[in-house]
Amino acid sequence: MSRTSVVVIGGGISGLAAAWDLSGGERGPGPNSPRVEVLEASQRVGGSLATTTFAGRTIDVGPDGFLARRPEATALVRELGWGDRLEAIGASGAWLWLGERLYEIPRGVALGVPTSYASVASLGGLSYRARLAARRDQWLPRRLTVGEDETIGRIVRAKLGAELAYRFVEPMVGGIQAGRIDDLSAKSVFPALLEAARAGGSLMAAMRASAPSPGPSTAPVTPDPLFYSLAEGVGSLATELAARLEGRGVIIRRATAATALRRGEGAYAWDVDTDSTTTPAHAVVLATSAAASARLAGPLDPDLAALARVTSAGAAMVTLQFDRSEVVLPERGTGVLVPLATPWRGDTMLVTALTFLDRKWAHLRRDDDVVLRAHVGRIDDRRWIDLDDDALIERVTDEVRHLLAGTGAARDALAQRFPDGLPQYRVGHDRLVAAARAAAARAGLELAGATYDGVGIPASIGSGRRAAAGALARLG
Ligand SMILES: Cc1cc2nc3c(=O)[nH]c(=O)nc-3n(C[C@H](O)[C@H](O)[C@H](O)COP(=O)(O)OP(=O)(O)OC[C@H]3O[C@@H](n4cnc5c(N)ncnc54)[C@H](O)[C@@H]3O)c2cc1C
Repeated sequence: MSRTSVVVIGGGISGLAAAWDLSGGERGPGPNSPRVEVLEASQRVGGSLATTTFAGRTIDVGPDGFLARRPEATALVRELGWGDRLEAIGASGAWLWLGERLYEIPRGVALGVPTSYASVASLGGLSYRARLAARRDQWLPRRLTVGEDETIGRIVRAKLGAELAYRFVEPMVGGIQAGRIDDLSAKSVFPALLEAARAGGSLMAAMRASAPSPGPSTAPVTPDPLFYSLAEGVGSLATELAARLEGRGVIIRRATAATALRRGEGAYAWDVDTDSTTTPAHAVVLATSAAASARLAGPLDPDLAALARVTSAGAAMVTLQFDRSEVVLPERGTGVLVPLATPWRGDTMLVTALTFLDRKWAHLRRDDDVVLRAHVGRIDDRRWIDLDDDALIERVTDEVRHLLAGTGAARDALAQRFPDGLPQYRVGHDRLVAAARAAAARAGLELAGATYDGVGIPASIGSGRRAAAGALARLG
């Protein structure tokens, strides 16, 4: 039989990780390795991962770090021989903007949820009612019947009240995928919370007992960091992978979108169409967003078409450079979280979070300036789309200078937009994914990407590698 052929649709980190294993992984291609072709719709690989040069540094404009606790990203970095380029997070702790000033997020927070009355009481800026709600959870917890899945918001509101839910928990938990706690599934996004609610009694006590890992504010800076970046930016992982793949004969076709996925003929299970070509393939890995995957694979099975129900939030990142002497930062911490609906000049703030980039990542630190990054956008806040880059930068800079009172004018600024990079795991997401996976298995297709096993780089890499294993098993 002639050489087998696999097409990977999508050249984000999950598709590239799939292509890495399809072409032999760490050991490289062998005599039986398939021909691998990666189709990437945009001009460059990496999807959400992207670096640029700004303020004399190589910085990430998309994801700037990845969780160390999940092993998939660090394992891949080490496989590339890049272990010495891992940069450990250089600071811990964060601040919350409440009622027109910054408050340090207290210790005793598990993944964004307070674990004791003391941690709530030590956070200034909350009302008496919020403290009372925490006290009540400690002494006379509200009863809550939880079903198979619930929104994070329903659990936290019921147990700790609306103020703690929207001003404390939502900025931390909802921020990770630019979603709303009233939409996001506890089962898929925050299983420890669902378990804590199911345990009954005090939510804070149950969270404290389960505390799978300390929240960012309690994280010590130790030899086992919570997050890593890379010396040349997280985006360099994608460009390096692509270079290695091309070096071992994988074909990467940039600016080439897959337009249709059809049943193939003869030995080939699939025909993958682009505007100008058709590639026959024995196996296909679909590593695109849920919406794109639904368009391509939906005609094969209603459970694959149902992926269209997974909508994605967009985001804009505005990176700012200030003279060190012009910027007023809190004494510690990696950034600031801003609750939604925070008032701003007759409107509400666009900025949802602020990262002190060169404090978080020591390799970005310089003596004379400071680089910060403002995060903008939520699933239900797309106002940034209507602003051009100049207007967005001006508005965001004003907000940042308000958050960091006393800060002067920015020296330079850069806006980057991500129209739909963050899939929303709503209640029932696990069932939708299980059904899509079963349909994909029936159809003989592999699914990979941030839609399935968790939003984040390690999970995406893991899903790409699992998809590659599935495709290789299919080739026999
Ligand atoms: C602003 C932002 C900040 C983030 N910050 C972090 C962070 O700090 N840490 C972290 O771990 N995670 C972070 N994430 C999440 C992380 O970036 C993603 O989970 C991960 O990059 C998803 O990779 P992916 O390959 O699944 O999808 P994507 O990166 O979306 O890649 C999919 C690719 O498919 C291509 N494509 C689409 N349709 C077609 C088609 N028809 N044919 C061919 N190609 C197609 C797209 O062009 C794209 O390149 C962030 C995400 C965003 C958007």
